[in-house]
Amino acid sequence: AAGIVIVGAGQAGVMTAEALRSGGYEGSITMLGDEPHGPYHRPPLSKAWMAGEIAAAQLVMRAPEMLARKNITLRTGVTVKAIDRSTQTLILGDGSTLPYAGLVLATGSTPRALPLPGSDAPGVLALRTRDDASTIADRLAACIEQERPVVVIGGGFIGLEVAATARKKGLAVTVLEAAPRLLGRVLAPVLSDWYAELHRGHGVQLMLGAQVAAIETGADGAVSGVKLADGSVVPAGLVVVGIGVSANDQLAQAAGLACDRGIVVDACGRTSDSSIVAAGDCTARRLADGSLLRLESVQNATEQGKSAAAALLGQERPFTATPWFWSDQYDKKLQMAGLSMGADGWAVRGDMAAGTFTVYHFKGEQLIAADSVNASKDHLLVRKLLDAGVSPTREQAGDVGFDLASLLV
Ligand code: FAD
Repeated sequence: AAGIVIVGAGQAGVMTAEALRSGGYEGSITMLGDEPHGPYHRPPLSKAWMAGEIAAAQLVMRAPEMLARKNITLRTGVTVKAIDRSTQTLILGDGSTLPYAGLVLATGSTPRALPLPGSDAPGVLALRTRDDASTIADRLAACIEQERPVVVIGGGFIGLEVAATARKKGLAVTVLEAAPRLLGRVLAPVLSDWYAELHRGHGVQLMLGAQVAAIETGADGAVSGVKLADGSVVPAGLVVVGIGVSANDQLAQAAGLACDRGIVVDACGRTSDSSIVAAGDCTARRLADGSLLRLESVQNATEQGKSAAAALLGQERPFTATPWFWSDQYDKKLQMAGLSMGADGWAVRGDMAAGTFTVYHFKGEQLIAADSVNASKDHLLVRKLLDAGVSPTREQAGDVGFDLASLLV
């Protein structure tokens, strides 16, 4: 009999497969991934792995034996080309078919391409996969040898992490960000400024409000620099493009599932087809107020995976916990909790100059999010406050003498 098939062998795919087993599902589980590798951790690709601080073996999320022990069949190097919902069958890259009783879409996201002339030149690279990371690492090594600079286009998390890693390796680095501040969509202005200073302090040349016009290439056809709108050229032996991702919802769209910049799911990971669930970066979650939320994080992939598994087993397990995320740059660990959009007031607790502090986001009188730098205790506590719907006042949040944990009793 047809069992459950999971498309995508990443964070969400693995979490769904394991939650199906721990939820008591005894039928067959087949996980299909188009990459040549088994499941691995993406976050270290721009951090510890690229910096040479961990070995490739530490990227492995689940070894094949571990999946086999749970009777989860992993097939790597397999691309799903289409979903035939009328017969509940998948069409694979080699033309073969695979029936499903339940289907999980965990297809992730794809880096947005730079819409500029020259952006397909060798040495202009995006970072999503292990193979991308290896290509970038090789190019970084070549830049060190040839004393050539690195340019990062896009001051988002991945771009800034790569910039920090490249600086650690001693490379000259320029970050070009189109917006007037770093991470403007998520961070409070005061924290954007702090991150700008952090990078400048580590020797990064940071250009805010930068208008990139074209990629310049050398005699060998490879990248030689980035041309700005004012005609100036920033030289580069490597350009890393980190300008955001788009959800991989093409399969779902072609099959007629509801999609809106992501596969539309409810809090339980259900799509518009009752035998298909979706989890992770490929989704857009419908919130209670009708709006759609796209999150690209390990926690989101993990929690939606668990919810999606439960939904396939006929159980309600909505994902409603406070969203959280982290980013490592230099010796600073940023931990974010909650959703900061719509914030209209902030409070800072701790010492920004010393680099150990938390910025609390308020909407009116209500705490909605907090970003902690090297302050894990603050981060864990604020997740509890947000989960409980308990808000300190702005004065309490900013007062290190006030015990925020006392609000939880
Ligand atoms: P993925 O992990 O992308 O897995 C999807 C898989 O499906 C991919 O292997 C894809 O190739 C495959 N696939 C797609 N279409 C098909 C198809 N048709 N057939 C077969 N296979 C298919 N998050 C954090 O919370 N903290 C961090 O610090 C952090 N750092 C990051 C650093 C980097 C460099 C990157 C790239 C991401 C980072 N993230 C971080 C984000 C996090 O890794 C993602 O949110 C998470 O991996 C999403 O999991 P997923 O399973 O939805 O997608």
